[in-house]
Amino acid sequence: MKLSHRLTNITGGGSDGWEVFLRARRMIAKGEKVIELTIGEHDIRTAPNILDAMDRAARAGHTGYALVPGTHAMRAAVAKRVEERTGVPTGIDNVLITAGGQAGLFAAHHAVLEEGDTALYIDPYYTTYPGTIRAVGGVPVAIEARSEDGFQPRAEAIDAAAKATGAKSLLINSPNNPTGAVYSRATLEAIAEVCKARDLWLITDEVYDVQVWEGEHISPRALPGMAERTLLVGSMSKSHAMTGSRIGWIVGPQEAIAHLTNLATHTNYGVAGFVQEAATYALGLGKAPEIDVAAPFHRRHLIALELLAGQNVVKATPPQGAMYVMLDIRATGMSGNDFANALLDEEKIAVMPGESFGAAATGHIRVAMTVADEEFRVALGRVLAFAARKAA
Ligand code: PMP
Repeated sequence: MKLSHRLTNITGGGSDGWEVFLRARRMIAKGEKVIELTIGEHDIRTAPNILDAMDRAARAGHTGYALVPGTHAMRAAVAKRVEERTGVPTGIDNVLITAGGQAGLFAAHHAVLEEGDTALYIDPYYTTYPGTIRAVGGVPVAIEARSEDGFQPRAEAIDAAAKATGAKSLLINSPNNPTGAVYSRATLEAIAEVCKARDLWLITDEVYDVQVWEGEHISPRALPGMAERTLLVGSMSKSHAMTGSRIGWIVGPQEAIAHLTNLATHTNYGVAGFVQEAATYALGLGKAPEIDVAAPFHRRHLIALELLAGQNVVKATPPQGAMYVMLDIRATGMSGNDFANALLDEEKIAVMPGESFGAAATGHIRVAMTVADEEFRVALGRVLAFAARKAA
């Protein structure tokens, strides 16, 4: 039986960029010792006090259907968090609780694209972006952000692509996975002007909003005239080490949230009530748990800067936030793919080739800072020594 093109075309038919990761997993399964610096999973688990709250809620009977847009308490907690960080008045009617940021990205694109509409996104990009757009019948169009610009996108390029394609939306992500770039106020203001001039919805993926090592996180929802055309996607995954709990949110205009609630009713039918209670408890603790979860990445970011300063083959571009460092290895003359494969074979260290994140990251590798500090120091030291040998 024939399946829909919308379904079978989600990956676009190309490589999904996970080859090195899968090869590393196979080596590990065979008993080889491989240092895994590929995916964005914390090396700590969800904090015991948050798990206790989940356990209490489940045992108190919150195991039935929860309200579909989210519990009142969880929506209020998210509204408070977003209002505090954007300065824009935000109420529970602006919040939909989703099964993680990924479900939020899907729903946000579903909300603004008709079949065949163009949706813009910035390359390098988080691997699910083009597939998410295709999954709702949209046509993904990438806009290159250059290594030379510190991976800050150029508003002129967005404007030109919006004009040429008649795009309906733009997806951005700051702090950025995979580049570690934190968009400056100037970048965001220029993007906001393009969105207004070209009548674009802005979908802003802010799942790394508390992992900022340089500069400050600015949500474009806070910029003049943007709240009504912005769908902000957030998540507990990265901020509270709750990746497996699958809880996130969309914050946007009331009308959008009302219709998105209908979509949620016809897809997930809500998010587990005991997970929402645990998340509400965690958000109620304020910034302290977020700072604890982010702290190891901040320390490892400093280790990376120290090691990078001691050599001149590999360039870091620019590790300002999130759990990754993007390294420019073009001085070795190798592609990111060749470098990552050779590194896995010769050093038993697994990193993601830049090419997995789009054409703009060719000649780069992404190193996830997701192993203990000392192991990270040794591993990154070996990556840099390997690059020096290849460049020589
Ligand atoms: N956006 C970005 C940029 C990510 O890196 C991730 C997870 N790796 C997500 C969204 C989705 O996260 P989740 O669904 O766990 O909230």
